[in-house]
Amino acid sequence: MKKLTLLFALSILIVSCAKKQKDDSTISFNKEQAVEMATDSLFEKYGESVKERIDKGVFQAATLWTEADGSEDDFVAFCQAQFIAEKDALKIFFEKVSRNFEILNGNFNKINVDLKLPVHKAGDELTPIDQMFGAYSVSSHLIEDLFNNKIAFAILLNFPFYTLEEKTKLGPEWTRLEWAYARMGDLFTSRIPAELIQNFAQVLAQADAYISEYNIYMGYLLDAKGNTLFPENMKLISHWGLRDELKSHYGKDAVDKQQMVYEVMKRIINQSIPQEVINSNKYHWDPVDNKVLKDGKEVPFKKEDNVRYQWLLDNFLAQKAMDEYNPSYPNYIQRSFDEGREMSQQDVEKLFIDLCSADQVKQVAAFISKRLGRPLEPFDIWYDGFKSRSSFTNEYLDDLVKGKYPSKDAFEEGLPVILTQLGFSPELSEFIPSKIIVDASRGAGHAWGAEMKSDKARLRTRVGEDGMDYKGYNIAVHEFGHNVEQTISLHEIDYYLLRGVPSTAFTEALAFIFQKRDLELLGLKDDNPDKMYLDDLDLFWSTFEIMGVSLVDMNVWKWLYAHPDATAAELKEAVIDIAIEVWNSYFAEAFGIKDQPILAIYSHMIDYPLYLAAYPIGHVIDFQVEKQLSENNFADEVLRMYSYGRIIPQLWMKNAVGREISSVPMLEAVNEALLNLTN
Ligand SMILES: [Zn+2]
Repeated sequence: MKKLTLLFALSILIVSCAKKQKDDSTISFNKEQAVEMATDSLFEKYGESVKERIDKGVFQAATLWTEADGSEDDFVAFCQAQFIAEKDALKIFFEKVSRNFEILNGNFNKINVDLKLPVHKAGDELTPIDQMFGAYSVSSHLIEDLFNNKIAFAILLNFPFYTLEEKTKLGPEWTRLEWAYARMGDLFTSRIPAELIQNFAQVLAQADAYISEYNIYMGYLLDAKGNTLFPENMKLISHWGLRDELKSHYGKDAVDKQQMVYEVMKRIINQSIPQEVINSNKYHWDPVDNKVLKDGKEVPFKKEDNVRYQWLLDNFLAQKAMDEYNPSYPNYIQRSFDEGREMSQQDVEKLFIDLCSADQVKQVAAFISKRLGRPLEPFDIWYDGFKSRSSFTNEYLDDLVKGKYPSKDAFEEGLPVILTQLGFSPELSEFIPSKIIVDASRGAGHAWGAEMKSDKARLRTRVGEDGMDYKGYNIAVHEFGHNVEQTISLHEIDYYLLRGVPSTAFTEALAFIFQKRDLELLGLKDDNPDKMYLDDLDLFWSTFEIMGVSLVDMNVWKWLYAHPDATAAELKEAVIDIAIEVWNSYFAEAFGIKDQPILAIYSHMIDYPLYLAAYPIGHVIDFQVEKQLSENNFADEVLRMYSYGRIIPQLWMKNAVGREISSVPMLEAVNEALLNLTN
């Protein structure tokens, strides 16, 4: 259920970009002098009325101007030629740039989608040349080109950049056009050399391929007595497939299977997993005693060692190399939070810690233990018993879904019906799916939006030979939520520069809201009068779980910045220590068990750096948005909220639900659920 990562990463790069030149190359371009000369000449020409814009614009352009771009005189001449004082002319400039950015972003995105198709789509075996094209970032020279041809400087000169603080303060009074202008001011805030962008894209793609091919053959796992517990052909991707298999055994008295899955996870986390059993069924494996068997006889093996952490380290190094070219956000944590999400890391951490340390955690943990009739196990962070779908067997759901969607085409053809069921107008129920293509995916699934109106979004999920199973369907409905957001926020928006949502958390919110309705969309109804309370506890528990995982992710990145010369082996120890520390701080007491590393299993940590926070922020937003949707017309409200576009998160929420992002409504709902539920 990862949302499209490469796009996330690339969009950060595309909206950032510009740079401060290294000291040795600024020798013959005297910035202060150039700024003074340019501002003086512009004041003389246009007067005081545009003084603020002149000051800001000239300073911004000069900051990223280098000797290679020209002398002081060249800079002054450029400013005189390109500065636009008159309002209507500025708007025409803005409209032309908007149109051209849609052409550039849209087509580069489409090329990326098409080149990565063999890597993302199930089908032929991957060959090295597929991987090479998959790792190629075709737009990596775009920003460099836009500086070289001075388009970036023309934009910098005319559209001021506003910090998150300024947007928070001034934004409520801005018109839509002023917001779009501010987004244009966000286009160039750093100047990163193309080879660094290319390198990062390549590391990310390779880490993604490592994760996508990380499957465990469950039918080849042995318990202490040499028995297998899982179907022979069951192949699960780490961690999504492993976690979901574990979840599927609640209510079935199969704690032995769950424990075995957790043993596998611990071997992955501490890297003692034999290389021979990763993505291979040539051997049997006893994960508890870590023995590998061939034809019933124990054979020697090689541990994976630190491959997992080497990929994380490579991601860190690729990001760190770009730090010095980002004057506004000189480390990746800031770029990911302040810039990427427009919420500071400190604010997000506080939101998470507030919820994780709430009394409700212990109360719900005790309630789960009571329902299970046993003390909690660490993997009960994925307790699934509040979900109404647990009342249907997997076999029943698989058969039902396979019958309904025997192929990916059948699912694609069914999209308009899903929207109609959700109350969308006939026009939108036709229009939105006309902008979506469904593919059977090689990995776990994702949604990749279009960046121009003439292109289509991609929905990827796993589809077996005999049709889409329930897991594939559940993910597909989630991804469809993303695609609906992507389509509305591209097509139903007044300014291209305002397309999208404030951050990925907002697209995740709609994805989860769709996913939550997956059974309803199959025509299954949970008649349980406690459904609402159970849903609230379910959302709370999964929010708590993923906040814990995300706190690990954030602390790992803080550790990396504090230890930039770490080896993969040191990083592994640090990740395990941090995971245990977060466990002991927020989970141990409620679970009655200490020192567990389970929070370190998420694959996102390896191939989607600092992405994880999007999920719990999404859950909190999801809770508030869901409430708004359930009290009003679902489809109308989805359209109203998601056509608001990329305004900063807190203002988006005020428009959507009338208040800022807060976990208080969720905690209040937990209190009410616990009061009303007896078992
Ligand atoms: Zn998602």
